[in-house]
Amino acid sequence: MAVVEVPRKAQTVRFEAALEMMRSGVRAFAAWVEQADDESLGEGLIQIRESGIDPLEAVFASGVRRFDKSGEYAADGALSLIAWLKWKCKLSGAAAVERVEIARQLDQLPKTEAAFASGDLGYEHVALMARAAQHVGAAAVRQAESTLLQAARTHDPGQFISVAKNFEHRIDGEGALNEANRAHARRYLHLGEPQDGMVRIDGLLDAEGGATVRSALQAFMKPGKNDTRSHGQRQHDALIELCRHRAGGKRDGAGPRPQLIIRASSDTLAGIRGAPAGELEGGGTVPAATVQRIACDTAIARITGQGELEHELNHATRTIPPSTRRALEARDQHCVFPGCDRPLSWCDGHHLVWWIKGGPTTLPNLALLCRGHHRMVHEEGWALERKDGRFKVTPPSRRVIPSSRSA
Ligand SMILES: [Zn+2]
Ligand SMILES: [Zn+2]
Repeated sequence: MAVVEVPRKAQTVRFEAALEMMRSGVRAFAAWVEQADDESLGEGLIQIRESGIDPLEAVFASGVRRFDKSGEYAADGALSLIAWLKWKCKLSGAAAVERVEIARQLDQLPKTEAAFASGDLGYEHVALMARAAQHVGAAAVRQAESTLLQAARTHDPGQFISVAKNFEHRIDGEGALNEANRAHARRYLHLGEPQDGMVRIDGLLDAEGGATVRSALQAFMKPGKNDTRSHGQRQHDALIELCRHRAGGKRDGAGPRPQLIIRASSDTLAGIRGAPAGELEGGGTVPAATVQRIACDTAIARITGQGELEHELNHATRTIPPSTRRALEARDQHCVFPGCDRPLSWCDGHHLVWWIKGGPTTLPNLALLCRGHHRMVHEEGWALERKDGRFKVTPPSRRVIPSSRSA
């Protein structure tokens, strides 16, 4: 017993000393980051990766390799090394697979391993090197290792993917094609059911699909004047705009063909208090103000149900006739909201006096508003008026809310 215990004790002492040094290093860096001035902070962040995280990942990889070979993870009851890493090291499945792959491939890529350990090569680059070795074999990667490492130093991980893919294609064109075909088979797009006024969209596009969507969205991504939308919001709006344009087909002066179907009662359309919400086909329930906006320009939406019936009986003129639409486009030319120059293809025909309240569908009662500004008028309380041929807007906070008639 005593013979076994002595080396174990020595190992434990070394482990505890190393652990304490690592922890005190982290503490020292935490304290430094707290009080570092803005100029030196950038260099600090670089060093946290180059001298801390990346070399530690290299140490982690060599430990994982030994653990893999010894099979010691089974002692904890784990069925595989990946399962053990997920469980004990709190990694996602993908992160665990990647670390095991790196550990196994680095053994055969000495230059990569050395660059990783010295902090010269970052984790993401190493993961790409390991993946290339997995795809075309470590021997092929080893032959081109110096060139690839040189490219890794001058390309960020996103760019380095292309370098690595190119290399794989040169070594094994057929394999690269097979991999692309496997990737293509994984493509999907999922449109969720409407929930809490939102529809979740997620998916994986194949490379060509991704490039096509990206370039198509680009045309609609340009920020407008004083545009406060985030990149994500602009991307969302661009996708919707793109779909409207496609589904609208050729413009004939009557605007795009209706694409939305709303079910709403006449009370909802009239915005009467206590009226039920509207129902947008494929979009769930929407507030009355949204129903009113969507129904404002009949080129966009069709109303069904009781509202439609009553409307057809009482408001025979709500559809903007092609000649009026052309005159409206000629007069306004773009969104009339002050400072906005969104082109007419992005605009709805807005009724200044809401048609259900008797506003006529004639040129003086119409205005072109882009989707964003149309929304601000109907749903966010902005008021739009036309006085002496000029449009004037009033923000919600400055609007005088009329008090009751008796006052
Ligand atoms: Zn409107
Ligand atoms: Zn606008």
